[in-house]
Amino acid sequence: MTIGILGGGQLGYMLALAGYPLGLHFRFLDPSPQAPVGRIAHRVTAEYSDHEALEKFVHGLELVTYEFENVPVEAARFLAKHVPVYPPPEALEAAQDRLSEKKLFCKLGIATTSFLEVNRASEMDAAVKKIGLPAVLKTRRMGYDGKGQWVLQTEEDVRFVMNEFPDTPLLLESFVKFQRELSILAVRNRSGETAFYPLVENHHCGGILRLSIAPAPKLDTTLQQVGERAAERIMQDLNYVGVLAIEFFECDGELVANEMAPRVHNTGHWSIEGATTSQFENHLRAVLGLPLGSTATAGVSAMLNLIGEVPEAAGVLCIPDAHLHLYGKSLRPSRKVGHVTLRAASVEELSRRLAQLPEFFQRPEFCLPTMPSVPARWP
Ligand code: AMP
Repeated sequence: MTIGILGGGQLGYMLALAGYPLGLHFRFLDPSPQAPVGRIAHRVTAEYSDHEALEKFVHGLELVTYEFENVPVEAARFLAKHVPVYPPPEALEAAQDRLSEKKLFCKLGIATTSFLEVNRASEMDAAVKKIGLPAVLKTRRMGYDGKGQWVLQTEEDVRFVMNEFPDTPLLLESFVKFQRELSILAVRNRSGETAFYPLVENHHCGGILRLSIAPAPKLDTTLQQVGERAAERIMQDLNYVGVLAIEFFECDGELVANEMAPRVHNTGHWSIEGATTSQFENHLRAVLGLPLGSTATAGVSAMLNLIGEVPEAAGVLCIPDAHLHLYGKSLRPSRKVGHVTLRAASVEELSRRLAQLPEFFQRPEFCLPTMPSVPARWP
């Protein structure tokens, strides 16, 4: 049985690794001839808009899923005429545009940041008046890892943006003075069965995820229920199938939704070693209509992203229950090239293991848990 995956990055790579024990085969489509899945699976190099290539790609596939949320919705709809496509293209559509995403949160009664759309420079003043400063200006589409976002602190920043207004629709959001960032991963299969991973604490630096701790320490248990209810409502509304991630700010004891991703997610990588069933296996189970696996955790995990460079393997692997994942990508600044997961029986033991990590990790950008989580200002 062959599964088609749109996008050939590390998420696809880890999906395939989770699927091989289930006897699955994979075929990937990615416009880049360097997409890392080429090392381990059949990779088709073509543009998502190339219908002829899409038709060849889909031939003989059981179903299609994606590991990249900026796949053109049109390509997903075209493929859906041939084979089932999960998550449904409507979920892709909602998540690709920050405005429709926010409107979905509001429609479903999920608390989110105050926001206003801004389509031209002349709308900035009125929007800033309503939202207030500081605020965050974001491109509605194609933003990821802090790209396409600006923090506006002062009137001067507002003038600067008005003069240099990008030729693209934007969203102005209130700046949330959050205590920390949390995310939930949920999964729903073709029969409507659902499962939820515990809320995870996330630390970003310069808009890029650096560290996740799962389950989030010192969590008020009601927040887990709030997170699950939010995911449940979205999955029901979209008749969702697959893994869904929602990122939240924890703010004065409340969860405020920031954004969602209709795919497996970086804040779920810990689940490979830290949960009974990883997010990757559960995504495959869900799209194939198989029973979901347990999301129970095995102790506490910390996941550290390797951005642009990798440490000496031996320095990581000498720590008990440390796991190194390298995606086979060439090293470039700001590029996610691998991750490390540390697992332990308790938060205290996990802290000790984090402290044992080699010097490579003892830098401010890793925002190790002893560091305060200060929201970054990014260019
Ligand atoms: P995003 O691409 O929306 O996930 O934003 C990347 C990171 O920027 C988030 O994980 C936060 O650390 C920060 N950020 C985004 N939006 C806001 C906001 N409205 N207030 C404060 N920080 C934000």
